[in-house]
Amino acid sequence: MATPDFDVAIIGYGPVGAILANLLGLGGLKVVVFERENSVYHLPRATALDGEGMRLFQAMGLADALRPKLNVSRNIRHINSEGQLLVLLERGGIGPEGWNNAYRFYQPEFEGVLRAGVARFPAVDVRLRSDVFALDEDDDHVRVRYENLANGALGAVTARYVVGCDGARSTVRRFMGAALQDLRSHERWIVLDMILDTPPAGVPDATDETGAIVDAIQYCIPARPTTFIPMPGKRHRWEFMLMPHDDPATITRPESIYELLKPWNIDPDKSQIERAVVYTFHSAIATQWRRDRLLLAGDAAHQTPPFLGQGMGAGLRDVANLAWKLRDVIAGDAPEHLLDSYETERMEHVRAFIELAVALGGVIQATDPEKARQRDKELLANPTMLKPLTPRLGPGLHGDAAPPAGTRAMQPRLADGARLDDRVGYRSCVLALPRFIETLPPATRQTLDESKQVLVPADGEAKDYLTRLNASAIVIRPDRYILGVASTIDELEAILARLPMRVSTPQFLAAAAAAYT
Ligand SMILES: Cc1cc2nc3c(=O)[nH]c(=O)nc-3n(C[C@H](O)[C@H](O)[C@H](O)COP(=O)(O)OP(=O)(O)OC[C@H]3O[C@@H](n4cnc5c(N)ncnc54)[C@H](O)[C@@H]3O)c2cc1C
Repeated sequence: MATPDFDVAIIGYGPVGAILANLLGLGGLKVVVFERENSVYHLPRATALDGEGMRLFQAMGLADALRPKLNVSRNIRHINSEGQLLVLLERGGIGPEGWNNAYRFYQPEFEGVLRAGVARFPAVDVRLRSDVFALDEDDDHVRVRYENLANGALGAVTARYVVGCDGARSTVRRFMGAALQDLRSHERWIVLDMILDTPPAGVPDATDETGAIVDAIQYCIPARPTTFIPMPGKRHRWEFMLMPHDDPATITRPESIYELLKPWNIDPDKSQIERAVVYTFHSAIATQWRRDRLLLAGDAAHQTPPFLGQGMGAGLRDVANLAWKLRDVIAGDAPEHLLDSYETERMEHVRAFIELAVALGGVIQATDPEKARQRDKELLANPTMLKPLTPRLGPGLHGDAAPPAGTRAMQPRLADGARLDDRVGYRSCVLALPRFIETLPPATRQTLDESKQVLVPADGEAKDYLTRLNASAIVIRPDRYILGVASTIDELEAILARLPMRVSTPQFLAAAAAAYT
């Protein structure tokens, strides 16, 4: 067959599809994006971005555009009916990613930055009001059939790969025949976005030194579990668990909403209800994320209760993991089986977040007063402080190497003040002590060149980082996960050989043969 029209077709232009479009655009691929809606979904849903997500914006060249639209946030405080602290999720300050651990955003603005980013790439063709209804798979391409919802015309394009970023009710997932594994948490909550002239009263211990509310609060109150989240500007999010006596049809009316808001003293004349809906928080993972040329990412692949603020964050990690693999396979720099590691690395990783969110949901959503009393007793005796979760990737390119292989690489500054990622760009890198670099044999240098690795001499904070790891070199993938750490040239060769790449040096081929036997 003739060359497919596009390298990749992305179905769905929510935040996850838009990030993938940016990363593939950056990688020089020819991409088409289909989205059935006319514009960005106009109401907020996700509110939280972590340091890993912000670092991805740095990789896309969009951190400066996004930063003014973000609030830096601090902790999530879980308190009981008496206001006592049960669980603290500590997320204040700058973290190892080189960015704050937690930010809050207004999703339509967030997506606006992403779409402006996509507009930088003429090879990315965005087709709005285009509903994909069929995928016909062939040996070397997929035919994507869609309806132009503006005029009813039917169209079709071909692409080498299709990525379903089409949300919880994914069409691509159904075409793949992938089921959803139910992780058994499906609770209905009222999601309320308010615009307030003055901040709410009575949010305990949640302000910073300027008086701004920076902590989110989980009110673990059996009569009505409730979440409060400060958002940028005048926006504030409340989420109220729907109780058995609530009438879902009337609970979102203004009179009911202001009744729910009474503890925060919200004046109806000085506030505006932006949105109030009843929404079910699901927890599920698709049983398969890739079948041949079809792949899933974001809510299409997994859904989580929002208690860690990680639903969208997990989708960001998916496409950060997938984009460079697609780029390298399509460019012919890597064999197709590089894509096999996408599902195995990501599925276990996201499961850790969903399981913690479900467990926290169990704490927050205890509605039996006796069980809640017992919970309070146990947690007050052992207050729980949770740091940001940083699980290891599932089985994948790091093979059977011990941690830190498969965990996040930190982002140190180099001696000239530059951040490491800005020096590297959207590539793999070998960060190594200068005296180690001096000893690299020509064949290793050739391996680095052929595999397009960026070799960075570790000075400044980067040198301290390697010293702490007790290593001479660290190999960091484009998604900023650690492939491995090395103290000798042989160890470095063995790590590089774990990357399926088209490299011709005999040393690389021998090490690769050893790595895969
Ligand atoms: C109330 C609520 C609160 C949330 N809070 C948080 C939070 O605090 N933090 C967090 O990280 N996450 C949160 N989330 C989750 C977050 O919104 C999602 O994880 C995120 O939007 C998923 O992004 P996505 O791009 O995968 O899917 P979506 O945003 O659902 O985008 C999918 C897109 O695909 C399009 N589409 C679907 N089918 C087709 C088709 N056949 N053809 C063409 N287009 C199609 C849809 O129109 C849609 O635009 C929340 C979600 C909700 C509902």
